[in-house]
Amino acid sequence: MDSNRKVLEVSSSIEGVDNQGDLIRSLKREIKTLKSKVIAQDIRIFEMQALLQSGKGLSNILNLSQLLDTFMAVVRERYDVVNSCVLLKEDFENGEKEFFQVKRFFAIDDQYVDALGRKEPLYLFRIEKNNGLLWQLIQQGAVFSVRDLQKEPRFVTAWEKLNLDILRSDFWCPLIKSGEVIGILTMGERRDGSQVAETEYSFIQELSSIATTVIDSTLRYEKNQRILNNIQILYDVHQELANINDFKELCKETIRNAVRAVKAQKGNLMLLNRTTGKLELVVAWGYIDETVLNGLNSGKIETKTFEIGEGIAGSAALQRRPYVVNNRDEIPQMGSFETYCICSIPVLNGSQLEGVMNFTNKVHIGQDGAAILDTLGRFTKEDVSLLQGIADQSAVSLHKSRLYSASITDRLTGLNNSRYFEDTYYELVAKAVVENKPLTLAVLDIDHFKHFNDHYGHKAGDHVLRSAAQMFNDLRREGTGDQAYRYGGEEFCMLFPDTSAEEALILLEEFRKKIEVSEFEYDGQKLSFTVSIGVAQAGLHSNDARVLFNLADDALYECKRGGRNQTRIAKMQKEAEDAGVIPKNDKVG
Ligand code: GH3
Ligand code: MG
Ligand code: MG
Repeated sequence: MDSNRKVLEVSSSIEGVDNQGDLIRSLKREIKTLKSKVIAQDIRIFEMQALLQSGKGLSNILNLSQLLDTFMAVVRERYDVVNSCVLLKEDFENGEKEFFQVKRFFAIDDQYVDALGRKEPLYLFRIEKNNGLLWQLIQQGAVFSVRDLQKEPRFVTAWEKLNLDILRSDFWCPLIKSGEVIGILTMGERRDGSQVAETEYSFIQELSSIATTVIDSTLRYEKNQRILNNIQILYDVHQELANINDFKELCKETIRNAVRAVKAQKGNLMLLNRTTGKLELVVAWGYIDETVLNGLNSGKIETKTFEIGEGIAGSAALQRRPYVVNNRDEIPQMGSFETYCICSIPVLNGSQLEGVMNFTNKVHIGQDGAAILDTLGRFTKEDVSLLQGIADQSAVSLHKSRLYSASITDRLTGLNNSRYFEDTYYELVAKAVVENKPLTLAVLDIDHFKHFNDHYGHKAGDHVLRSAAQMFNDLRREGTGDQAYRYGGEEFCMLFPDTSAEEALILLEEFRKKIEVSEFEYDGQKLSFTVSIGVAQAGLHSNDARVLFNLADDALYECKRGGRNQTRIAKMQKEAEDAGVIPKNDKVG
């Protein structure tokens, strides 16, 4: 060190030549000044070394909590302060508002009483950025004391409004990166009750600037990690949805993926009913009771429908933008489960609204895959953009699937139409024959329906067609793959996989009798009618789908000839061909 050497040289050269007049006196003064400069420099070097040491220690930590804990510990040790806390800019979705939330703290109560008198974890404590005096000072970036010599708060308005006593702090150090406040370090009084002198602020200031750089890179690192993860999720969701054709299955997979992606506790998909103009729940999924989920998904638990503009879901639909409520106090609490946060994302295909996805609460997923409610978790900006990505992808799939679904659905009755029958029938028969399993086809026709229409009018006819279709559809047994179709006019079909003609006949006979005794109310009149049904079994009556259909149709014709209002099993292919009731099939059956 140059100055060091100079001091030594000067002092040795004048050693022993005391009382030598002005020159010596001035030299002595110089020595004195230089000595004090050396001491100041030593202190500075020591501080720099300490800083370097602390800074190095900090930059080796990539975990945010550990980093903040170490940062606070260094500061506390150096100044012997009792408590400290770091608030960081909150990454939750808060619209325009900016909040700073407690991230780590030391020697402060881990709970506080909020404005509503509730005890809350300190991690939920946050302060909103505003234009007040306190924030102006924070923005300037220098360390400042928040209490005067009488230990009274210097920013009385902010203190009361933001409830800042909770942090038990004496002085604050803003954490600023590229001119932007990313956080605040708060520190309490010293163990001996004294306040940290302003002359000592420079060390905190410099250490904080190192810490801020490391905190900022850690935050960015974690954020990048999440973004990468989210891109992977979006890619996986895309792959998965691309392979699903069934509309309901598509809805279910969409919501399941979305819930898992943002670790929501539960979520649902509401689709826009274009007839009523309302949003109706289609599927729900989440880490909740399975019976409740099944109830919701089967329609056994009735759920509220939403007008566009009504509630959070309706607002997201109306404004065609995500709606997030992360403040529990703004959420109407219903039922016995607390709702901490809600998020609604519109599902848009271009500018066309398909529906809305809704999510509530966040969970932690344990190592065993079990979900635990995360009462501190809220929906972040990244959650929202990830959900928007999933919504965009599913909108396209849902739109396509809805068009397809409409193209295979009969408009009057809501049953599958003949087009869908053609799509599935040949495949199902071929499959049943290959697998050597029974498959039964039933063909149904309403008796004297022309006469019914003539007598009661076409509208009454439509009405009973719908009712009959509903009853026919209800014949399907759960989990069997039974399918009902409106084949055309007043004719219906049904396919019973894994079922013999005799078994199907029992069900169909019951149905026929039920129709026979039913009275259908229309326009003040009680209407009734009967049906005839022909039945044929693939693998038994014929292996050929076309022949099988003709055989069932012939059995139906037999019912009509036999007086209607009856069910019949088909003839064997050979017998029918020999009798000439169906054309001879030149293919090998
Ligand atoms: P059968 O017992 O021999 O089947 O006599 P039917 O009168 O039922 O048979 P037909 O095939 O002569 O007449 C079918 C009638 O079904 C003709 C038509 O008016 C009626 N129909 C077909 N589709 C509809 C519909 O969508 N709505 C209404 N209201 N009637 C329909
Ligand atoms: Mg007919
Ligand atoms: Mg008829």
